[in-house]
Parts: sequence; structure tokens; C-alpha cells
Amino acid sequence: MQKRSLVIANWKMYIESPEVARAWVAKVGRAKKDAEVWAAVPAPFIPLFAKSALSVGAQTVSRLDAAHHAHTGEVSATMVKNSGASFTLVGHSERRAAGDTNEAVHAQFAAALKAGLTVVLCVGEQARSQDGAHFTYIEEQLRSAFAGAQSLAKKVAVAYEPVWAIGKSAEHAMKPPQIEETVIFIRKVLAEVLGRTAALKVPVLYGGSVEPANAHALRYEGGVGGFLIGHASASPEEFLEIVKQCKG
Ligand code: PEP
Repeated sequence: MQKRSLVIANWKMYIESPEVARAWVAKVGRAKKDAEVWAAVPAPFIPLFAKSALSVGAQTVSRLDAAHHAHTGEVSATMVKNSGASFTLVGHSERRAAGDTNEAVHAQFAAALKAGLTVVLCVGEQARSQDGAHFTYIEEQLRSAFAGAQSLAKKVAVAYEPVWAIGKSAEHAMKPPQIEETVIFIRKVLAEVLGRTAALKVPVLYGGSVEPANAHALRYEGGVGGFLIGHASASPEEFLEIVKQCKG
């Protein structure tokens, strides 16, 4: 069972230059003592973490890998790994909104695991409904990603990110009791898919408007193992404060 918090920065496209990226790495590198800190960054910035104590990852990978050479613009999981990354996000809602179906997410998930990357699988509903349809939606995202790839899924984390709570401010984040309820549901599905022992090893994170003001409550009342942080990760100071709130 995971004890130390896992806090992952998702830079999205907030940080645009190598200079700003290097300054972020220099400032945040010290945070390792408070929590496990990873950063999901645009592919060109992955090598900037070479001398850092932080784990670096990509924000997505191609569903295609080594044997498929003629695909202009694609970045494979193997390339990401060979550039120094240890993990990748897959299925982020912004990639899904850009057209990635559950089937595409499954292919990326399998390609990344085969290449030896840890995968942070992002799931989350567009909206909550009275009849609980959001649980079915999340369950389908989980089951379709893992389908047939269970034997590969040794190094996986799940980031629960309700789409309606992303990119806002602290007061619009999901409330801890609802997070806790959803995490229990995700754990139940993971136990069915992977078996109870393997499922217990999967960190379940929350993402969606986490800021210094709500981080402590969301972490400790929401029952999550840590966070995936979007907009607040662009500022090293805000991100460091969130990491501090997760210290325990
Ligand atoms: C995200 O999109 O992964 C995310 C968590 O964004 P934000 O923190 O900006 O809501």
C-alpha cells in the first residue's frame, strides 16, 4: 500500500522555453524530501531533467511503436523512454477531447507499458448525474484501458480527474467526500480487473483545480495517494507549496 504522497506536475503547454523549464527544475528539485515528485512535460523538455532527482515523463505517447517507422509527427513510447522519461500520462481528458477514444487510450497504454514506462492512466467523467451514470463512464475507461494488458500492468497509477473540475480554482475542485467515494469505486474496479493484491499497489491520484489552499484537505480527507496538478504546477512556488501540504 502506498504511503508517501505522489505529486505529479502536468505542465501541459504552460511552460514554453527551455530557460523557464530549467529554472523550474532547479527550484522544484529540492521537493523530493516531502513527497515523490514527478513532472509530465512536453517531449522536447524531457532531457532537461537528466541531472535532476525528479522523475520526468511525457504527457502522451503514440499508440504505434518501434516497428512503425513511417509516421511523421508521432512520438513513440520508446523514444520517450530513450530520452530519459520513466513514465507517461495516457488518456488525459484534453487528449480525449482532441479525439483519443477508449480504444486509442488502450493502445497507448499497452505501447507505453511494453516500452517499460510507468503509465499514469487518466480517467474522469464529463459531468455527474443523479443516476450515477458517471460511475459507468469511469468504469468503461478503466476496463477498456486494461483489457488484455493486465499482465503488462505492473507499473501503473490512476489519476482520477473529473473533467468539470479541471482548470478552475480551489473552490471549484471536487469535495473530499465525493473524491473518497469515487476512489473507493475505482479501487473496486481495479480489484476486479487486476486482482486485489495488485490493485492495492496502484496509486490513485486526484486532479482538478488543486491549489495550495485545498491540497491538504483533498489529500487527507479525499483518501487519495497524491495529485496530478495542472495550472498550479506552472508556478514552482505554488507547486512546492502543494508538495509541502502532502508531506503528511
Ligand atoms: C489536469 O488537467 O491534469 C489538471 C489537473 O488541471 P488543473 O490542475 O489545472 O485543474
